[in-house]
Amino acid sequence: MLTPQAKLELEKQHYRIVGSHSAVKTCGWTKSMIRGQGGCYKLKFYGIMSNQCMQMTTSISCANRCTFCWRGYKAPVSKEWAWQVDDPQYILENSIEQHLKLLAGFGGSSKANKRSFAASKEVKHVALSLTGEPITYPKMNELVHKFHEQGISTFIVTNAQYPEAVKSLAPITQLYLSIDAPTKELLKEVDQPLFPDFWERTNQCLDLLAQKKQRTCIRLTIIKGINDKHLKEYAVLIKKGDPDFLEIKSYMFVGESRERLKEENMPLHEEIIEFTKALLKHLPEYSLVTEHIPSRVVMLAKNKFKKKDGWYTWIDFDKFKRLALSRKYFSADDYLLKTPQTGLSGKGTLDEMPVEKKKKFLERYSKYKINEETEERDLD
Ligand code: SF4
Repeated sequence: MLTPQAKLELEKQHYRIVGSHSAVKTCGWTKSMIRGQGGCYKLKFYGIMSNQCMQMTTSISCANRCTFCWRGYKAPVSKEWAWQVDDPQYILENSIEQHLKLLAGFGGSSKANKRSFAASKEVKHVALSLTGEPITYPKMNELVHKFHEQGISTFIVTNAQYPEAVKSLAPITQLYLSIDAPTKELLKEVDQPLFPDFWERTNQCLDLLAQKKQRTCIRLTIIKGINDKHLKEYAVLIKKGDPDFLEIKSYMFVGESRERLKEENMPLHEEIIEFTKALLKHLPEYSLVTEHIPSRVVMLAKNKFKKKDGWYTWIDFDKFKRLALSRKYFSADDYLLKTPQTGLSGKGTLDEMPVEKKKKFLERYSKYKINEETEERDLD
């Protein structure tokens, strides 16, 4: 159980605690889309409507102290489940209630787009990430089933420390593994894991990811000067996990990570593209599909997702719901939609640019400097 002081601290940071181990917090992109100012990269990559997305976790605690995490080192950590186990129906109802309460202020706001706000009252997607390690909740399969029954799609992000939980997880819309470093030594430095066998756990999770039939994704968070090398070793891990998609994202200089890292550790978007192109030389079975510049992230997909008329990385949510509830066998190929917008902005790499063009480019990107709003919307 959270101490009253820890709960107060989290509430000051705009988290709403649900029961004894879950929490919701409005994603900055949800607010952005309600204001009519655009959605997150998962809208562009997969078709998730940010105004209808609920960002939450089912475990505030996790088993790492990642250097790049926005959480402070006072945030709860534990190897084992340390809470009572709340009822899935309670978590579902109360999370949605808290999420909608957090959005209620948009009702009287002149900044809100009325249609977007009206739509936000119907939650259609849950991002189980936010903070901590959601996959450790012992009744996760019951909870995701309840979400699917309500027509809510499910993304879960795990830091690859709980192979048993990955193994027993029922089909969800998209399962993520965060792979934060390419070697055992670097992973220890970057994630500061509690488990002494953290490397074996990561490798087991990768093996298990490869066996999943529904959509899978590996996310790399690149910290300039720290985990941006050893491309061959990254490729070995990625091949082992055999994900459908790869997201390569810049570390964001936000929250308490600012006390551990420097702003220079945050790669520019073009540096992410350079890294990705170099990594792709070791991964011929993948191609770069699209990018989202404000979040400094690119998405790669297995070549099989490219059909004759273009890329298919979006999700057919209605079909997913029917398939998930049928409890029959289905795979990632069964709920695809065409990706409307693909390709890069075509700026080339920084090194390839003429000096003047490079200067203009860097000026343009300076508007994406981190501020309170970007801080809030890059938690997921
Ligand atoms: S929580 Fe994630 S999926 Fe949902 S709007 Fe925010 S960034 Fe997008």
